Amino acid sequence: MMPSDQHVGPTGTFPGFFGPHAPHESDLYKCVHCGFCLQACPTYLETGLEAESPRGRIALMKAVNEGRLEMTPSVVGHWDMCLQCRACELACPSGVEYGKLMEATRSQVEQQTRRSFTQRTARSIGYNTLLKSPTKLRMAGTALKLYKKTGLRTIARGTGLLKLLPGDAELADEYLPELSQNFFVGKGQVHPAQGVRKARVAMLAGCVMALTHAETLEAAVRVMTRNGLEVHVTAGQGCCGALNTHAGEPDSAAQMARKNIDSFLAINPDAIVSASAGCGAAMKDYEELLRDDSEYVVRAARVAELTRDVHELLLEYDFTPPVKGLDITVTYQDPCHLVNVQRITEAPRTILKSIPGLKLIELGEPAVCCGSAGTYSITQREMSAQLGRRKARKVIATQAETVATANPGCAMQLDFALTQLAKENQTARTTKVRYVVDLLDAAYSLE
Ligand code: SF4
Ligand code: SF4
Repeated sequence: MMPSDQHVGPTGTFPGFFGPHAPHESDLYKCVHCGFCLQACPTYLETGLEAESPRGRIALMKAVNEGRLEMTPSVVGHWDMCLQCRACELACPSGVEYGKLMEATRSQVEQQTRRSFTQRTARSIGYNTLLKSPTKLRMAGTALKLYKKTGLRTIARGTGLLKLLPGDAELADEYLPELSQNFFVGKGQVHPAQGVRKARVAMLAGCVMALTHAETLEAAVRVMTRNGLEVHVTAGQGCCGALNTHAGEPDSAAQMARKNIDSFLAINPDAIVSASAGCGAAMKDYEELLRDDSEYVVRAARVAELTRDVHELLLEYDFTPPVKGLDITVTYQDPCHLVNVQRITEAPRTILKSIPGLKLIELGEPAVCCGSAGTYSITQREMSAQLGRRKARKVIATQAETVATANPGCAMQLDFALTQLAKENQTARTTKVRYVVDLLDAAYSLE
């Protein structure tokens, strides 16, 4: 089949890809099967299987698109195993936009296949109820805190109740993250700049990070205001929509994007900032997400243009290096959506190196995903745990006291993997997980 901008449709027995969210054939047929991407792919590195490589997954997409192959659970399983880390995009000499292809393919899977009742229920609650409503998400967060603090968790574990619940409740319980004491909420707060105001910035509170790492978001506000930025945590905002986009739910992701666009642009900001790599990457892609929405596409493009990762923003506005130092060794874990999507590697390192006394030790295999990948750690537990262990071993090999990161999923995965590895090795866990902005804030607090 020849490349084309239009979707031509299948010539074989099966229905192929169809509808408005079908992968573009001009993207799909760019792949020339050279295999340069294979060694960049974490699932290929772990399995050695062609079907768990970018090239293999694209071959399956082409076969399905042409109607030569049915979208069976086995085919879908290979696509589901992809982390969407997009390391393959960086390695690909033909410029295959693999992330776009996989998002469109997942949307086809949701249209054309029927998941189990448990999966449908979990997806509906997760993607269409909790992520769409910050209030409901916070209520769920409060319920989780009570579950952990009141002894209910001990009872559920001790009585075997978790085994009786549908789905893998034991797994979900094991992965329950630590939650912040006070959640971070966008209510229209304005944090004035210290000194001369350099810019007015709208800040994304986010969904998961606002519940699990609220302290880091507060630290991000402090370091921005300390550097002359007036920070608005605008009212009416919500989740960026990244998790929905990756899960093949573009319509709900677009609804979330519209809410954020209205919320951010209402204050006429000079920049829009995210302290989470995944969310920043998603907002920089709002124009693409809303390309068919004539009412919103121009404003979506404006938001994409204004969006900055927090480290990028601090450098753009000439942040002041701290005067006092932290006498610690730190290694830095590159979040995939910062490196492979936003192409930012130097800004976090520059900030870390600006802290007097801090010794930065580079991590081995920096480009290999830690295995977090949004909801992947729940849906693909085994591969996620394997990759988590792989990353934790690299962290431990540096002998750094702290591993710094810039994304909530990575922070939780590193925390979990380091604890699990210490348990397996029957050793004490010594490495802390912090965000880069936490360390900068800690250094400023000494002044
Ligand atoms: S996105 Fe990541 S996991 Fe998926 S095929 Fe590309 S490199 Fe492999
Ligand atoms: S590197 Fe690019 S062109 Fe080569 S096999 Fe991978 S995706 Fe295809």
